[in-house]
Amino acid sequence: MITVEKLTKVYGNGDSAVTVLDNLDFSVQQAEIFAVVGPSGAGKSTLAQCVNLLERPTSGSVIVNGENLSQLTEAQLRAARRRIGTVFQSDGLFSRRTAAENISLPLDYLGVTRADAKKRVGELLERVGLSSHAKHYPHQLSGGQRQRVGIARALALKPTVLLADEATSGLDPASTASITALLKELRTDLGLSILFITHEMETVLQVADSVARLDNGHIVESGRVVDLLRDA
Ligand code: ADP
Ligand code: ADP
Repeated sequence: MITVEKLTKVYGNGDSAVTVLDNLDFSVQQAEIFAVVGPSGAGKSTLAQCVNLLERPTSGSVIVNGENLSQLTEAQLRAARRRIGTVFQSDGLFSRRTAAENISLPLDYLGVTRADAKKRVGELLERVGLSSHAKHYPHQLSGGQRQRVGIARALALKPTVLLADEATSGLDPASTASITALLKELRTDLGLSILFITHEMETVLQVADSVARLDNGHIVESGRVVDLLRDA
């Protein structure tokens, strides 16, 4: 579960201070896909970076599974970051490594044995529907398939929360639909809390259980997607 409490981010100081996130409050339950949607400049990447621990909030908290990330030291942050799976717009794969090798990276990095890593990578490839593509290089995969590899890598260390930052934004509608279907499966099968950040309202309607609309650093509306659709 992810809880964001009175999260505020201010860049600069004095006369040049800009409040990019102003007192955000929301939570992502276990087995829930919670979308944050908003136009360019709304503060979405800043929010992602605060959850991702690449930026520290100016005030307020990000709490993941009861652990207040805002209070951690740098060394603790590195460990905490491993407990949050992150999927970006750009898949971030290494072009000279196969799908399987890319998925194995976080495991290799932590010194998991070869045999255990191989078994885990096999499970992950199956989970994202790419068992037959283990030895493919990124350029031999479609955009949607590469994003699946990115998702498998994000899951390698068994996180309980997943941050998807514009994860479908570069994709055509069919690939987007396959990624949103996969995320919904992961939510249900693994009970993941997924924070899905995007500028695409159509994708929110496909994927999310709940949504908050972010504009100019403020949450201007939030609720269950079914209720929004009913009222529309
Ligand atoms: P989005 O991802 O929704 O487009 P961002 O989080 O990138 O929004 O940016 C929100 C606002 O914060 C923008 O006005 C942007 O110019 C400003 N901003 C982002 N990063 C910085 C920074 N490092 N210093 C100053 N202003 C920033
Ligand atoms: P290198 O130092 O080999 O360039 P990086 O630190 O840039 O490696 O990480 C390479 C890739 O592996 C990145 O895409 C990153 O997301 C992923 N990665 C590295 N360490 C971890 C980790 N501990 N947990 C999850 N993913 C990781």
